[in-house]
Amino acid sequence: MSEHPRRPYMVGNWKMHKTRAETRDFVAELAPRVADHAAYVDVAVCPAFVSLAAALDAARGTAVRVHAQTMGRAPQGAHTGEVSAPMLVDVGVHGVVLGHSERRRDDGETDRLLAEKVPAALEAGLEPILCVGETEEERDAGEMERRLRHQVQEGLELVPTERLAEVVVAYEPVWAIGTGRVATPEQAQEALGFVRALVGDRSRAGAERIRVLYGGSVKPDNAAEILAGPDVDGALVGGASLEVADFAALVAAAAR
Ligand code: PEP
Repeated sequence: MSEHPRRPYMVGNWKMHKTRAETRDFVAELAPRVADHAAYVDVAVCPAFVSLAAALDAARGTAVRVHAQTMGRAPQGAHTGEVSAPMLVDVGVHGVVLGHSERRRDDGETDRLLAEKVPAALEAGLEPILCVGETEEERDAGEMERRLRHQVQEGLELVPTERLAEVVVAYEPVWAIGTGRVATPEQAQEALGFVRALVGDRSRAGAERIRVLYGGSVKPDNAAEILAGPDVDGALVGGASLEVADFAALVAAAAR
């Protein structure tokens, strides 16, 4: 496993769930359960902003990383309600999910905006996880590749070539998020291979090292077959990351 250029990565996106106390208890319970796998797998949870400090407290000295679910584009300024990348770094956050389909849908996040947010995160010292993925209508219309090309190329456009490998891309078909409809292992591998090839248009070395995750109804009983794809470097997990036992089982599956 040590010769592999990419460490598996399991990331739990909690969305708008868990109080501070629930966050603390979860991380305190998760950390010892995944400690043995930490040599092989990177593990992160993404709590709501108000629970980041609780997660960071509980994660201190463990292998569990703490990420935010979004961030503002500017480093500071007159942007009421926003939290900036330098602010997240200041509290000890490791990374940030950017362009989740729920934010694209509910908050109007565009590829143009993400083109600015991804390098802003990197510059501040955060690991960006750029989410991409087609809707069911786009897939049915044969538009998946066109959509992914646009999202990946624009999202990474302002990232310096030598820093491409520091970004993580999560392919999350919108029709599979929170629906229980998981992509087949073949569909996941095909899309992730395509995403990697798009990065390869910029940099062959970057494409070999960038981590590409699958997201969309990943559960303990379907993880192994999805993770078996050669381009699948891990998963971004929503629902199944809310229970310690399920998320620990997913981390164990990624370690195999
Ligand atoms: C997500 O929200 O990123 C996600 C993949 O959710 P779920 O695992 O619940 O489909």
